[in-house]
Amino acid sequence: MSISKKLRNQNKRKKYKKKKGADHLQPKKTSINHCLMCHEEEEIPYDVVRDFDLMDGGDPTTPPRFNCEQCGGEMYPEYYKGMHGQEYKLSDIL
Ligand SMILES: [Zn+2]
Repeated sequence: MSISKKLRNQNKRKKYKKKKGADHLQPKKTSINHCLMCHEEEEIPYDVVRDFDLMDGGDPTTPPRFNCEQCGGEMYPEYYKGMHGQEYKLSDIL
């Protein structure tokens, strides 16, 4: 029992790739992202957004950006609070 636990912890070492199976660690929260091109809405889990934020290179002026599944356009979060407390709102850029 303790061995498998150890292995598990090692696998969890800081990798900023998509964490699969980590859903149970956090409450299910999603960020609503809006496509700026076709206005499609997409719910993206916060932990995925956060991972993107971490990989972003730490640019605090832009939120993590996703591409629309419908048209490939750029998406913007309806509301997102970044790692360092910066806030992004869709209404800010419209
Ligand atoms: Zn779109």
